[in-house]
Amino acid sequence: MSVFIKEKKYRCVRKATVLDPKVLAPKLRESDVSEVWASHKATPLEALTFPFSIKGHMTFSIIGNEDQGVIGMFGVVPTDNKGWGIAWLLTSDELYEHRQQFLDECPKWVEEMETNYSYLYNHVHTSNKQSMAWMRALGFKTIHAYAYGELGHTFALMCKAKEYTVKKFNRYSKAPKVGKDIYCPHCNFRNTVYHLSWVALECQHCQDMVGKKFWTYREPAMSNKKIKKYLLDIR
Ligand SMILES: [Zn+2]
Repeated sequence: MSVFIKEKKYRCVRKATVLDPKVLAPKLRESDVSEVWASHKATPLEALTFPFSIKGHMTFSIIGNEDQGVIGMFGVVPTDNKGWGIAWLLTSDELYEHRQQFLDECPKWVEEMETNYSYLYNHVHTSNKQSMAWMRALGFKTIHAYAYGELGHTFALMCKAKEYTVKKFNRYSKAPKVGKDIYCPHCNFRNTVYHLSWVALECQHCQDMVGKKFWTYREPAMSNKKIKKYLLDIR
Protein backbone atom coordinates (compact mmCIF):
# COMPACT_ATOMS: atom_id res chain seq x y z
CA MET A 1 0.00 0.00 0.00
CA SER A 2 1.40 3.36 -0.88
CA VAL A 3 0.46 6.63 0.70
CA PHE A 4 0.35 9.78 -1.35
CA ILE A 5 0.52 13.04 0.46
CA LYS A 6 -1.65 15.41 -1.47
CA GLU A 7 0.09 18.69 -1.95
CA LYS A 8 -2.10 21.61 -1.07
CA LYS A 9 -3.15 23.41 -4.21
CA TYR A 10 -3.79 27.11 -4.15
CA ARG A 11 -6.03 27.69 -7.09
CA CYS A 12 -8.75 30.02 -5.99
CA VAL A 13 -6.81 33.19 -5.16
CA ARG A 14 -4.31 35.17 -7.21
CA LYS A 15 -2.81 38.67 -7.21
CA ALA A 16 -5.38 41.18 -8.45
CA THR A 17 -5.09 43.12 -11.68
CA VAL A 18 -6.55 46.58 -12.34
CA LEU A 19 -9.09 44.96 -14.67
CA ASP A 20 -10.62 42.78 -11.93
CA PRO A 21 -12.80 45.50 -10.34
CA LYS A 22 -14.68 45.86 -13.64
CA VAL A 23 -15.66 42.17 -13.52
CA LEU A 24 -16.66 42.16 -9.86
CA ALA A 25 -18.34 45.56 -9.45
CA PRO A 26 -21.59 44.80 -11.35
CA LYS A 27 -22.24 41.65 -9.30
CA LEU A 28 -21.10 42.77 -5.86
CA ARG A 29 -23.29 41.42 -3.02
CA GLU A 30 -26.08 43.76 -2.04
CA SER A 31 -24.88 44.09 1.55
CA ASP A 32 -21.37 44.95 0.34
CA VAL A 33 -22.84 47.58 -1.99
CA SER A 34 -24.75 49.21 0.86
CA GLU A 35 -21.72 48.96 3.12
CA VAL A 36 -19.30 50.90 0.89
CA TRP A 37 -22.04 53.44 0.24
CA ALA A 38 -22.74 53.91 3.96
CA SER A 39 -19.07 54.18 4.88
CA HIS A 40 -17.61 56.26 2.05
CA LYS A 41 -20.47 57.05 -0.35
CA ALA A 42 -18.50 54.96 -2.83
CA THR A 43 -19.89 52.98 -5.76
CA PRO A 44 -18.76 49.33 -6.06
CA LEU A 45 -16.31 50.25 -8.82
CA GLU A 46 -14.89 53.14 -6.80
CA ALA A 47 -14.48 50.97 -3.72
CA LEU A 48 -12.77 48.18 -5.65
CA THR A 49 -10.49 50.50 -7.60
CA PHE A 50 -9.47 52.67 -4.65
CA PRO A 51 -6.84 50.30 -3.16
CA PHE A 52 -4.83 50.43 -6.40
CA SER A 53 -4.26 54.14 -5.82
CA ILE A 54 -2.60 53.56 -2.44
CA LYS A 55 1.14 53.07 -2.40
CA GLY A 56 2.04 49.77 -0.80
CA HIS A 57 -1.38 48.16 -1.24
CA MET A 58 -1.68 44.39 -1.45
CA THR A 59 -4.71 43.22 -3.40
CA PHE A 60 -5.91 39.74 -4.30
CA SER A 61 -8.74 38.35 -6.42
CA ILE A 62 -10.80 35.26 -5.72
CA ILE A 63 -11.49 33.26 -8.86
CA GLY A 64 -14.57 31.08 -9.33
CA ASN A 65 -15.11 28.76 -12.27
CA GLU A 66 -14.41 29.73 -15.87
CA ASP A 67 -17.77 31.40 -16.41
CA GLN A 68 -17.67 33.29 -13.15
CA GLY A 69 -14.19 34.77 -13.32
CA VAL A 70 -13.52 37.12 -10.41
CA ILE A 71 -16.00 36.46 -7.60
CA GLY A 72 -14.35 38.45 -4.83
CA MET A 73 -11.45 40.72 -3.97
CA PHE A 74 -9.63 41.40 -0.76
CA GLY A 75 -6.47 42.96 0.47
CA VAL A 76 -4.78 45.39 2.78
CA VAL A 77 -3.88 49.06 2.43
CA PRO A 78 -1.36 50.82 4.67
CA THR A 79 -2.39 53.64 7.00
CA ASP A 80 -0.36 56.58 8.33
CA ASN A 81 0.31 54.49 11.41
CA LYS A 82 3.16 52.06 11.03
CA GLY A 83 2.14 48.48 11.67
CA TRP A 84 -1.58 49.15 11.20
CA GLY A 85 -3.23 48.11 7.95
CA ILE A 86 -6.82 48.27 6.75
CA ALA A 87 -7.98 44.86 5.56
CA TRP A 88 -11.01 44.52 3.33
CA LEU A 89 -13.06 41.89 1.52
CA LEU A 90 -15.77 42.48 -1.08
CA THR A 91 -17.43 39.57 -2.87
CA SER A 92 -20.24 38.42 -5.14
CA ASP A 93 -22.83 35.86 -4.02
CA GLU A 94 -20.96 33.28 -6.09
CA LEU A 95 -18.34 32.98 -3.36
CA TYR A 96 -20.75 30.74 -1.39
CA GLU A 97 -20.25 28.05 -4.01
CA HIS A 98 -16.51 28.07 -3.30
CA ARG A 99 -16.76 28.66 0.42
CA GLN A 100 -14.70 25.70 1.63
CA GLN A 101 -11.94 26.13 -0.91
CA PHE A 102 -11.67 29.80 -0.01
CA LEU A 103 -11.62 29.15 3.73
CA ASP A 104 -8.94 26.48 3.25
CA GLU A 105 -6.72 28.89 1.34
CA CYS A 106 -7.39 31.94 3.48
CA PRO A 107 -4.82 31.46 6.25
CA LYS A 108 -2.02 31.59 3.68
CA TRP A 109 -3.26 34.91 2.30
CA VAL A 110 -3.94 36.45 5.66
CA GLU A 111 -0.42 35.50 6.65
CA GLU A 112 0.87 37.24 3.55
CA MET A 113 -1.24 40.32 4.31
CA GLU A 114 0.19 40.38 7.81
CA THR A 115 3.79 40.46 6.58
CA ASN A 116 4.10 44.21 6.99
CA TYR A 117 1.54 44.75 9.73
CA SER A 118 1.04 43.87 13.35
CA TYR A 119 -2.62 44.87 13.25
CA LEU A 120 -5.22 44.53 10.53
CA TYR A 121 -8.56 46.25 11.03
CA ASN A 122 -11.64 47.62 9.34
CA HIS A 123 -15.19 48.76 9.90
CA VAL A 124 -17.93 46.31 8.92
CA HIS A 125 -21.59 47.32 8.66
CA THR A 126 -23.30 45.40 11.48
CA SER A 127 -26.11 44.34 9.12
CA ASN A 128 -23.49 42.74 6.85
CA LYS A 129 -23.63 39.44 8.74
CA GLN A 130 -21.86 37.44 6.03
CA SER A 131 -18.96 39.84 5.98
CA MET A 132 -18.64 39.75 9.76
CA ALA A 133 -18.67 35.94 9.60
CA TRP A 134 -15.87 35.92 7.01
CA MET A 135 -13.82 38.32 9.12
CA ARG A 136 -14.32 36.19 12.21
CA ALA A 137 -13.32 33.06 10.27
CA LEU A 138 -10.11 34.87 9.32
CA GLY A 139 -9.39 35.60 12.98
CA PHE A 140 -10.77 39.13 13.32
CA LYS A 141 -12.48 40.17 16.55
CA THR A 142 -15.10 42.83 17.11
CA ILE A 143 -13.55 45.57 19.22
CA HIS A 144 -16.36 48.10 19.27
CA ALA A 145 -19.62 48.98 17.49
CA TYR A 146 -20.56 52.60 16.90
CA ALA A 147 -21.95 55.14 14.43
CA TYR A 148 -19.42 55.49 11.64
CA GLY A 149 -19.13 56.69 8.05
CA GLU A 150 -20.92 59.11 5.78
CA LEU A 151 -24.41 58.01 6.76
CA GLY A 152 -23.81 57.44 10.48
CA HIS A 153 -24.80 53.75 10.36
CA THR A 154 -23.67 51.31 13.01
CA PHE A 155 -20.39 49.64 12.10
CA ALA A 156 -18.38 47.05 13.95
CA LEU A 157 -14.71 47.87 14.35
CA MET A 158 -12.94 44.55 13.75
CA CYS A 159 -9.27 43.90 14.33
CA LYS A 160 -6.78 41.09 14.01
CA ALA A 161 -3.59 41.36 16.02
CA LYS A 162 -0.56 39.42 14.88
CA GLU A 163 1.45 40.01 17.98
CA TYR A 164 0.25 37.67 20.65
CA THR A 165 1.44 35.70 23.58
CA VAL A 166 0.74 31.99 23.85
CA LYS A 167 -1.04 31.02 27.05
CA LYS A 168 -2.26 27.87 28.70
CA PHE A 169 -5.40 27.32 30.73
CA ASN A 170 -5.52 27.20 34.49
CA ARG A 171 -8.37 26.27 36.75
CA TYR A 172 -9.75 29.78 36.71
CA SER A 173 -9.87 30.08 32.93
CA LYS A 174 -13.23 30.73 31.31
CA ALA A 175 -14.43 30.77 27.72
CA PRO A 176 -16.66 33.66 26.67
CA LYS A 177 -20.08 32.89 25.18
CA VAL A 178 -18.93 34.11 21.78
CA GLY A 179 -16.32 31.35 21.79
CA LYS A 180 -12.61 31.05 22.44
CA ASP A 181 -10.04 30.02 19.87
CA ILE A 182 -7.71 27.33 21.10
CA TYR A 183 -4.73 25.78 19.32
CA CYS A 184 -3.82 22.13 19.03
CA PRO A 185 -0.25 21.41 20.31
CA HIS A 186 0.20 18.74 17.62
CA CYS A 187 -0.99 20.39 14.44
CA ASN A 188 -1.48 24.01 15.53
CA PHE A 189 -5.02 23.99 14.09
CA ARG A 190 -7.44 26.56 15.46
CA ASN A 191 -10.44 25.02 17.22
CA THR A 192 -13.21 27.08 18.83
CA VAL A 193 -14.80 26.23 22.18
CA TYR A 194 -17.72 27.83 23.97
CA HIS A 195 -17.06 26.54 27.46
CA LEU A 196 -14.21 24.86 29.30
CA SER A 197 -16.15 22.15 31.11
CA TRP A 198 -14.08 19.36 29.62
CA VAL A 199 -10.91 17.53 30.52
CA ALA A 200 -9.77 16.65 27.02
CA LEU A 201 -10.94 17.50 23.54
CA GLU A 202 -10.47 15.93 20.13
CA CYS A 203 -8.73 18.23 17.65
CA GLN A 204 -11.03 18.71 14.69
CA HIS A 205 -8.07 18.65 12.34
CA CYS A 206 -5.67 15.90 13.44
CA GLN A 207 -8.23 14.02 15.57
CA ASP A 208 -5.79 13.70 18.45
CA MET A 209 -7.31 13.70 21.89
CA VAL A 210 -5.63 16.58 23.73
CA GLY A 211 -5.84 17.28 27.46
CA LYS A 212 -6.95 20.77 28.50
CA LYS A 213 -3.60 21.74 29.96
CA PHE A 214 -1.90 21.15 26.60
CA TRP A 215 -4.20 23.34 24.51
CA THR A 216 -3.01 26.92 24.11
CA TYR A 217 -4.80 30.17 23.41
CA ARG A 218 -3.45 33.49 22.19
CA GLU A 219 -3.70 36.83 23.80
CA PRO A 220 -2.96 39.95 21.79
CA ALA A 221 0.09 41.84 22.99
CA MET A 222 -2.14 44.89 23.05
CA SER A 223 -5.41 44.40 24.92
CA ASN A 224 -8.72 44.89 23.10
CA LYS A 225 -9.33 47.90 25.30
CA LYS A 226 -6.05 49.50 24.20
CA ILE A 227 -6.66 48.58 20.56
CA LYS A 228 -10.06 50.23 20.77
CA LYS A 229 -8.67 53.39 22.35
CA TYR A 230 -5.85 53.56 19.81
CA LEU A 231 -8.12 53.07 16.80
CA LEU A 232 -10.72 55.56 17.99
CA ASP A 233 -7.95 58.09 18.65
CA ILE A 234 -6.33 57.86 15.21
CA ARG A 235 -9.64 57.82 13.33
ZN1 LIG B 1 -4.55 18.86 16.01
